Amino acid sequence: MSVIATIEAGSLLRPSFTALPPLALYVHVPWCLRKCPYCDFNSHELRAAGSVQDALPEDAYVDALIADLERALPSIWGRIVGSVFIGGGTPSLLSAAAIDRFLGAVRARVSVRPDAEITLEANPGTFERARFAGYFAAGVNRLSLGVQSFDDRFLKVLGRVHGADEARRAAESALMIFGNVNLDLMYALPGQMPDDAARDVSSALSFAPPHLSFYQLTLEPNTLFHRHPPSLPDDETAADIEDEVQAMLGRAGYGHYETSAHAKPGWQCRHNVNYWRFGDYLGIGAGAHSKLSFPDRVMREIRWKQPKRYLEAVTQGTPVQESVEVSRGDLPFEFMLNALRLTAGVPASLFVERTGLPLSVIAQPIAEATRKGLLDPDPALLAPTLLGRRFLNDLQELFLPEKAASQKVGSDSTFVARDSALSPARMQVGSDPTFPR
Ligand code: SF4
Repeated sequence: MSVIATIEAGSLLRPSFTALPPLALYVHVPWCLRKCPYCDFNSHELRAAGSVQDALPEDAYVDALIADLERALPSIWGRIVGSVFIGGGTPSLLSAAAIDRFLGAVRARVSVRPDAEITLEANPGTFERARFAGYFAAGVNRLSLGVQSFDDRFLKVLGRVHGADEARRAAESALMIFGNVNLDLMYALPGQMPDDAARDVSSALSFAPPHLSFYQLTLEPNTLFHRHPPSLPDDETAADIEDEVQAMLGRAGYGHYETSAHAKPGWQCRHNVNYWRFGDYLGIGAGAHSKLSFPDRVMREIRWKQPKRYLEAVTQGTPVQESVEVSRGDLPFEFMLNALRLTAGVPASLFVERTGLPLSVIAQPIAEATRKGLLDPDPALLAPTLLGRRFLNDLQELFLPEKAASQKVGSDSTFVARDSALSPARMQVGSDPTFPR
């Protein structure tokens, strides 16, 4: 894939792509049985007077997703979808028949690679074996199970709707039906000690899933835990837990390929790797984000977040709430924010391919990061060192537009403040579970 970055009048660089990045499809399902106290995702509690089936507008939502996709087709004409990720929220609230209808509609409208990875996120609290088998029959070939812990004490603290037994039964069935399964677990939980985390890792390893994700519990704004903070392990204990988790997974043969993701060789999540390599994605559904490249620009879109508002907007043909072009000043940071999450980093040439800008625009932050020991000195690579992985935020911050502006382009007004609603810090980047989970 070759890219030419042209220099226009007034030294204004504009990205110029001769080939576009790989494309993925993200689908958001915005409901959950209950809102977890730490959750800042676009998930809305189903307030059912009766059953879940009564409260969930399943048919209307699938119709809306199909209409949303149809409206977006001109922006992805001729492109092939390499992976589909149905995330949430709790997509496993949808019936297998609904998933089957939706995936059939996708295939009828979009070229999907025959070997596309098609992931669905499931909550053990909605587990039914027949339902899992139905998803598989519908074409879902990867299941991401939000276990969080195999210990009832911590599941209770986290406000999860499932218990440890349900988590075990769901994991067992998922492995049997799909084979390609991710288990999500969290660590640094209130009251958790390294031994507790080690027991969770052992429980997870007993199922031998090909992929495991471990996320540190953080207190995000606009969550119950932020308003009423629980007592979390101190930094030293959290670091001990993290070291213990990573050592156990390494000994068990899992490669630590991304900040929170571990996989057996050949089982990395292709959908999420596409995000981290700054690939394109069309996001449909309430609150979904898109990043789409065109020959001369990169666009970000966000759809209406509230499910009711989204459903109304789709019927009016306006599911997109906001659409902005990513400025050339923001592109380098957005690329590095993603790529540096990959443990092995990326080839330096990928920066040029995916941003349409020359590597020289980040020459100074690269030099500073290398001097500080945060970035691998190999000029052919953009990869964090062990120290860089430990201090990932500090490393990423070196590539902030403001930093680059002061180092590289002085008062160039195209380097804008990063306060957009489409800031990458708020974008969904798929989801084992949806970044930045
Ligand atoms: S953490 Fe997952 S299950 Fe809990 S409210 Fe958020 S999206 Fe729903």
